[in-house]
Amino acid sequence: MTEQRLPAAYMESIGEMLGQETEAFRESYSTPRTQGLRFNMLKSVPGRRAIEQAIAHFALTPVPWCPSGYYYEEPARPGRHPYHTAGLYYIQEPSAMSAAELLSPQPGETVLDLAAAPGGKTTHIASLMQGQGLLVSNEIHPERAKILAENVERLGIAHALVVSAAPGELSRRFPEAFDKIMLDAPCSGEGMFRKDPAAISEWSPAHVEMCAARQWDILQDAYLMLKPGGSMVYSTCTFNRKENEETIARFLGAYADIELVEQKRLWPHRAKGEGHFVALLRKAGQDEPGPSRGKRSGRGKDGQNIPAAARDALKQFSGWAAAELPGYRTEGVPVMFGESLYLLPEAFRDRLHLGLLDGLKVPRAGLHVAHLKKNRIEPAHALAMALQPEQAARVHDLAADSLELAAWLRGESLQVPADLHGWTLVSVDGLPLGWGKASSGQLKNHLPKGLRIHKGYSSEA
Ligand code: SAM
Repeated sequence: MTEQRLPAAYMESIGEMLGQETEAFRESYSTPRTQGLRFNMLKSVPGRRAIEQAIAHFALTPVPWCPSGYYYEEPARPGRHPYHTAGLYYIQEPSAMSAAELLSPQPGETVLDLAAAPGGKTTHIASLMQGQGLLVSNEIHPERAKILAENVERLGIAHALVVSAAPGELSRRFPEAFDKIMLDAPCSGEGMFRKDPAAISEWSPAHVEMCAARQWDILQDAYLMLKPGGSMVYSTCTFNRKENEETIARFLGAYADIELVEQKRLWPHRAKGEGHFVALLRKAGQDEPGPSRGKRSGRGKDGQNIPAAARDALKQFSGWAAAELPGYRTEGVPVMFGESLYLLPEAFRDRLHLGLLDGLKVPRAGLHVAHLKKNRIEPAHALAMALQPEQAARVHDLAADSLELAAWLRGESLQVPADLHGWTLVSVDGLPLGWGKASSGQLKNHLPKGLRIHKGYSSEA
């Protein structure tokens, strides 16, 4: 049993915090871990019926602290359902849902998620922002940043950039740029022991010290990037005081303009979840209206001109979209990477500066809309995921339990009416899943190979 392998020093620190409750905490290790999913409210309009179906199908029950969050129990496997591929929800540990709820990002704000992979908090923030404003999601490790970008794409998020940089590099580029910051810090992961017993072997008092020192460093950069009057959530999935209350107290001691609005813990023996620490902090003062300090200081001022190739690509794409996506409004600043066209949220140019991206690793510069092949446009998978079905000229909708859908998810072509011709949005119960190209009664499958059903992918956080 897991509890027998819990390090003595760990249980000692728990005992100091919990006193008589320690036994109840220890017993929580003999119960199964809690599992949850959170609906993506960016899909709530086409997905209303699918949400109702998912709630019934997986026997979901509500998570008290997150209106879009639900628990599921074995043997339900929502991560294997086509609604997951369609981005209707994100599999997320229920306690972790408390962090973005506490941050409460609003539509239109400029928000940074500083340690974002694989994307639990980022997708939650995007959902709460209702796709409006600007979200910068950063993950220091490039491989993890790719997974983050895939999840941002799967959930159809158009107003986010995914970047991959050390916090210090970002704070040099983005001083006082953000209304809200999420810092879900890398930690010793004590709240992961039940879900992932292998995490126990990585734990040691020295590791806790190392994590606290790293958290302290990251907090300095978060401070620099927060606007006066802005707020920030610091969270961890660990229990010890060093990485939580003591880190926050040290932060408050170092910065007179930071106040603690609220801090709370979710304990696995008190609430149904694996446990989390969350603190809401506010920076005093008021933001000056207009562009952020990074922009005012004129950093990267050369980058505001859009290269001719990107302009041409945008023109070509807009022409294609006018015919193929009659309900879609092409907006954003065109950015080209090789033959890929991205539309960077206009808020990035208006509030920050395009030049700030120079030399930065940007796995996803906004919404990937198209591949430009010689003189033709091939729509990108990410574009399909960000559309509402009524925006596309042609839609081929499949039922979640149909054999046709299973075949399509395996990458097979489908038979379609002979009069269907051209790029067609394929959807499941009204939720976009990707592109097919129809001609002569066949719908050629353009689902990216990595997403075909025999290849699983992890999106849990
Ligand atoms: N927020 C994510 C979510 O909800 O899916 C989980 C983030 S996880 C707790 C912490 C992240 O911090 C990891 O992805 C890790 O790679 C990253 N990280 C590690 N060292 C870091 C550092 N020095 N600065 C910033 N991030 C770091």
